[in-house]
Amino acid sequence: MSLLSVIVPCFNEQESIPFFYQAITETASGMQKTWEDLEFEFLFIDDGSKDNTLAIVESLREKDTRVRFVSFSRNFGKEAALYAGLSNAKGDHAVTMDVDMQDPPALLPELYKAVTEEGYDSAATRRVTRKGEPVIRSFFARRFYRLINRMSSADIVDGARDYRIMTRRMVDAIVSMKEYNRFTKGIYGWIGFNTKWIEFENVERVAGETKWSFWKLFGYALEGIIGFSTIPLSIATWFGILMSLVAFLGILFIIVKKLIIGDPTSGWSSMVCIMLLVAGIQLFCLGIIGQYLAKTYLETKQRPIYIARKTSEDQ
Ligand code: UDP
Ligand code: MG
Repeated sequence: MSLLSVIVPCFNEQESIPFFYQAITETASGMQKTWEDLEFEFLFIDDGSKDNTLAIVESLREKDTRVRFVSFSRNFGKEAALYAGLSNAKGDHAVTMDVDMQDPPALLPELYKAVTEEGYDSAATRRVTRKGEPVIRSFFARRFYRLINRMSSADIVDGARDYRIMTRRMVDAIVSMKEYNRFTKGIYGWIGFNTKWIEFENVERVAGETKWSFWKLFGYALEGIIGFSTIPLSIATWFGILMSLVAFLGILFIIVKKLIIGDPTSGWSSMVCIMLLVAGIQLFCLGIIGQYLAKTYLETKQRPIYIARKTSEDQ
């Protein structure tokens, strides 16, 4: 027997869960015709939902013992939910997917085939279009992927979704990365393994609405950069060197001018501008260092990544 864990993070998804459950169970029985020793578990992670998400999942569990769940004590974010899913999954393979049907369950057989028959450690999906997404969001998303791939050695794929199947070995590798500031896309790139990429057209949400505001995404992007690159710190250093050089040349110029022409340096306003500029750059660089320090501070506290309030194994 081979067990496949389907990990589904849910945050206020009462409208989507019934559609999802319907679709995934159909896909599952289809797959069991092809792979006869294949069993499933559906692991829902309730990320501190305020609606009826947990009640719906519990009622599914009553009918179908393949359904398991972990319910958080508050909203910890999708990254924490994915971590909880992977660390609680019992399967020989695990797949993570959104509950809103933007990760089409119909692709699952193809993903499963890649890791069982084609020798890949992982199969992941990327959408080739961003149709139906706000234009500004797509624009910044593209810039972000460009930037982070220049800055980081972890290979982060544009348009990659968190819809990914992986072997037990890869799941264990991810779970072993216990960092508090999690950026899963970077973690996948960092741990390596060979991954098959499967492309598909963007699908819009079946029900409910996206949990990501522009600013939440912006913060997430910063998290990714700080988590997987130390280049901003070098930028601060280079800025410092450059400004010192400019200042040194300026001093030379003023001394020589004073010795040759003898006139005292005038120009109060230019002086103020330069001082403001330099002070600005200094604060900017301090800010960069502060960002890293803050992350380090949070990591040293070694707080748990999530706290469960209830799980399907509780009695
Ligand atoms: N999600 C979560 N915790 C959060 C935000 C989102 O578990 O704090 C889940 C959500 O229920 C969904 C998935 O993550 O299953 C993707 O969220 P969403 O569809 O809002 O993101 P998008 O597809 O717009 O990127
Ligand atoms: Mg979605």
